[in-house]
Amino acid sequence: MRTTTVVIGAGQAGLAMSWWLARRSIDHVVLERGEVANSWKTERWDSLRLLTPNWQSRLPGYGYQGKDPDGFRTMPETIGFIEEYAQAITAPVRAHTRVTSVRNRGEGYEVATDQGTWQCETVVLATGACNTPVIPSVVEAVPAAIKTLTPLQYRKPDQLEDGGVLVVGASASGVQIADEIQRSGRPVTLAVGEHVRVPRVYRGRDIKWWMDASGVLDQRYDEVDDIVRARNVPSLQLAGYPDRRTIDLNSLTAIGVKLVGRLAGVNAEGKAQFSGSLRNVCALADLKMNRLLDTIDEWARKNGRDGEVAAPERFAFTEVEESPPLLLDFTRGRIKTIIWATGFRPDYSWLDVPVLDHKGFIRHDGGVAQSPGLYLMGLPFLRRRKSSLIDGVGDDARDLSAHLASYLRDRALSRPELIAARG
Ligand SMILES: Cc1cc2nc3c(=O)[nH]c(=O)nc-3n(C[C@H](O)[C@H](O)[C@H](O)COP(=O)(O)OP(=O)(O)OC[C@H]3O[C@@H](n4cnc5c(N)ncnc54)[C@H](O)[C@@H]3O)c2cc1C
Repeated sequence: MRTTTVVIGAGQAGLAMSWWLARRSIDHVVLERGEVANSWKTERWDSLRLLTPNWQSRLPGYGYQGKDPDGFRTMPETIGFIEEYAQAITAPVRAHTRVTSVRNRGEGYEVATDQGTWQCETVVLATGACNTPVIPSVVEAVPAAIKTLTPLQYRKPDQLEDGGVLVVGASASGVQIADEIQRSGRPVTLAVGEHVRVPRVYRGRDIKWWMDASGVLDQRYDEVDDIVRARNVPSLQLAGYPDRRTIDLNSLTAIGVKLVGRLAGVNAEGKAQFSGSLRNVCALADLKMNRLLDTIDEWARKNGRDGEVAAPERFAFTEVEESPPLLLDFTRGRIKTIIWATGFRPDYSWLDVPVLDHKGFIRHDGGVAQSPGLYLMGLPFLRRRKSSLIDGVGDDARDLSAHLASYLRDRALSRPELIAARG
């Protein structure tokens, strides 16, 4: 089978790219191992709602039309939205088609799948940033009696045994899961490393409104001082609860969650060891939150918005007990489950193009991989701070499809026989 561009993955990133390719009259298919919105269908817990408001799901040619722009979609609503988009743009999706290898054949790419092989000139990898949970190696020292889960496996508290739960990681997934499990009556200990604290609502407006309006989310990858660091910043401590409540370490402490430092190891006696840095990481998160709020205040003042919104406010510092425990005995049966909310990474085990760095990430410049004709979509800060969000893929797809189109043009000019072969 032959086409000009193979897009791999039918999440929002692959679909947004499909919209732009169609607009540029570039012949393509979208290969998907499951169904449209597969990650939202199969890899999210039941109660999850988007933490981005409804208005902030703008896809190319498609925005929010409903009556609740400030609400937060449930998972069925999110899946419905992405499925509707795929239908509205008549994306050429081939579902249940798993890509098993991509090879650069010099004259183009060969994309092997469990449904046959495609030859093409360009490939867009829109396979997601969160395919594989990142689990610290300390997992090997966890006693077998303790069940361990990742957020990709976690669905709801009832799935867990009664008894204590250690949630490791306090970014978006960790804090939301800790909150839900604690409320189910299972006492939660939360191991807290570096995290990013923000209020849900600031000066009467959603924090995402501020970040969008002030241009923070549009910041480009070639404008920041340290893009490697920017790409690895943890997700915001934020949740899309219908009552718009803020979730942070103080709100978790208030419902009884016990905070400890970063999980550093498990010693020979089966005791978990936590870092003594809890106070410091919390102080740093408070400081960074206030810096963000300062930036917002300055933007509001400079742009004449002060009159439209409430007065600036500052929030209570994160409360940390005087001497947080440094050890937790795993052998006494108090902890029944550990949830590793320690981040995710992409899976490129099927990619046979030599573009991976020593950490297994693709070397690229704003989504243009170091193999001509190969592109990436949907990764954190790929081209902009918003790149991994639903709202961010449209701008990236526009830019990268323009690059792809000019690559095809240049190639055709330098190799006229290809135009003949394409018909
Ligand atoms: C818990 C969680 C909550 C999030 N909440 C929000 C939010 O509130 N708002 C927001 O904007 N973003 C949110 N995100 C971030 C982001 O929007 C999602 O991760 C989203 O799913 C990414 O879309 P994508 O198209 O880049 O990748 P995915 O949706 O992961 O799509 C990639 C597709 O590629 C397919 N695929 C992978 N490998 C292959 C293969 N070898 N062959 C064929 N197909 C393949 C997968 O099946 C999948 O369908 C969240 C992410 C997570 C993990």
